[in-house]
Amino acid sequence: MNKQTLSFQAEVQQLLHLVTHSLYSNKEIFLRELISNASDACDKLRFEALNEAALFEDAPTLEVRVSYDAAARTVTISDNGIGMNEAEAIANLGTIAKSGTREFVGKLSGEQARDTQLIGQFGVGFYSGYIVADRITVETRRAGLPADEGVRWSSAGTGEFEVERIARAQRGTDVILHLREGEDEWLSQWKIKSTIAKYSDHISLPILMRRQEWSAEKSEYVTLDEWETVNKAAALWARAKSEITDAEYKSFYEQIAFDSAPPLAYTHNRVEGRSEYIQLLYLPAKAPQDLWNRDRKSGVKLYVKRVFIMDDAQALMPSYLRFVKGVIDSSDLPLNVSRELLQESRDVKAIREGSTKRVLGMLEDLAANDADKYASFWAEFGAVLKEGVGEDHANQERLAKLLRFASTQAEAGVSLADYAGRMKDGQEAIYYITADTLAAAKSSPQLELFRKKGIEVLLLADRVDEWMLAHLFEFEGKPLQSVAKGAVDLGTLQDEAEKQQLEAAAAAFKPVLDRLKDALKDRAKDVRVTTRLVDSPACLVVEEGDMSGHLARLLKQAGQAAPAGQPILEVNAEHALVKRLDGSERFDDLAHVLFDQAVLAEGGQLEDPAAYVQRVNRLLT
Ligand code: ADP
Ligand code: MG
Repeated sequence: MNKQTLSFQAEVQQLLHLVTHSLYSNKEIFLRELISNASDACDKLRFEALNEAALFEDAPTLEVRVSYDAAARTVTISDNGIGMNEAEAIANLGTIAKSGTREFVGKLSGEQARDTQLIGQFGVGFYSGYIVADRITVETRRAGLPADEGVRWSSAGTGEFEVERIARAQRGTDVILHLREGEDEWLSQWKIKSTIAKYSDHISLPILMRRQEWSAEKSEYVTLDEWETVNKAAALWARAKSEITDAEYKSFYEQIAFDSAPPLAYTHNRVEGRSEYIQLLYLPAKAPQDLWNRDRKSGVKLYVKRVFIMDDAQALMPSYLRFVKGVIDSSDLPLNVSRELLQESRDVKAIREGSTKRVLGMLEDLAANDADKYASFWAEFGAVLKEGVGEDHANQERLAKLLRFASTQAEAGVSLADYAGRMKDGQEAIYYITADTLAAAKSSPQLELFRKKGIEVLLLADRVDEWMLAHLFEFEGKPLQSVAKGAVDLGTLQDEAEKQQLEAAAAAFKPVLDRLKDALKDRAKDVRVTTRLVDSPACLVVEEGDMSGHLARLLKQAGQAAPAGQPILEVNAEHALVKRLDGSERFDDLAHVLFDQAVLAEGGQLEDPAAYVQRVNRLLT
């Protein structure tokens, strides 16, 4: 049969040029692409054979073989899949069928062409072979055709390719790469095997290589005429749940997470519908060192139809779930999907939403059925989960239920629902206090009245708490209220007698109050009498809507300008120190010491510690 020489479609020529000039830094992907094509060809045969079993001929076991010939300097990827007839070989290997890719290549030029990021965004597929080969020969026969209707396609990957009819007994396709100068590293069992392990381990088809054996006589490895499977050929996540043991799930976790401690929980699902994917997600037992780094890589690996695409696919999981490990295997995404593309893909968005719901479900389950495990999860990852309250409004309610706190009544583990269940008759708000440490929160003067009345207050000391509370205003209709913001209004919890007592005290105290305001006019927005305090003489509060002292300090530590709003000084008119103000010769010193102590009591730092010391000394002598 005569040989034809044909020209590549113009866009293919451009693509080939880009492949050979720009993809050099990531050349091992050619093996992934060619093995994936071989696997697709086997899938197609299996599908067509559903209606026509004869297509299997006498070789029903579908497989991929990879071999190399050091003398000829070739690497061959063979499959016994569907194969191609002459017209298919010309069309499939000589043109780019996908219009999107075609347009994209058409537009790329000059500077852009050297940008490998861009190139990663479209399908290189078969042509990636030219990264390492300066000639590719494809020998193929379509399943069902007679042995003399095989095809040989060959090209140096420049302008043209040749096609001729050959005799080929074997069904399917051999892709023979004639290696470029300098690509001898591919003439190695180890190199090919490790690349297969990296990208194609979980392809459900066996990938075979010739067995090698050490020969003491020759002092080198010799290649035997026996084939062995070099990939795992089984993606755990693609198997039916009912067929996987707990031990298998755990050992798989160890493999992918490099974590020898067993996971706290896992969830495994096949999602069908608009977007099809499999998810196998694990909750680790221990937080890694770098959990606090928000740029930290997430632990979710992306596969497309069992082919490994990338580690730490951040787009698949919201940042506040960055501790989750596992695998997502999509049936919809293209093999060559890039990180940039992931950000925009609607399929990815559907996957992220679905996976978020699954993880939250897993946490709810743990919280409901295994309080000890949930407590241990919370201790490790709770502060990260809190970020979600501000970031993920769609799931805010579910997240709020998962929060756990310390309070004035329990060391830890208080949920908002627990709190709400113990609220006093007539109590309308959920009270909390934020501070730099739990100890500071616990001993804060602002809690005195709440303690006296037996009202529970949540104690918050994580860095993220202020931020979270800026987004969480209520829980099941009950407002969250800081005990250090605004005037205390305990509503009906405060009895009338007390209120009247306060008003009377304030009236009697008015002249002193006016002097205090004047003495502290550069430091306090206002000075007022409070019932909030029992044992302490004074405390600082901020106006509803102003930034708390704690948050201002956090911002300052982070090097951000914190708007210097002035606090309000509240004084306990019943306190001996406050009573001493009236008629004191040292009024000014006393007033400033009162203020400075209130700053210290809430864990703040004095702007002028030396002045404070002098004042205290003057009062002491
Ligand atoms: P894609 O796999 O995304 O379609 P490729 O460039 O990888 O793009 O392959 C182009 C086409 O060539 C495939 O769609 C297929 O029709 C054909 N092809 C490539 N390799 C094989 C193979 N081993 N067996 C049969 N057909 C193949
Ligand atoms: Mg392909």
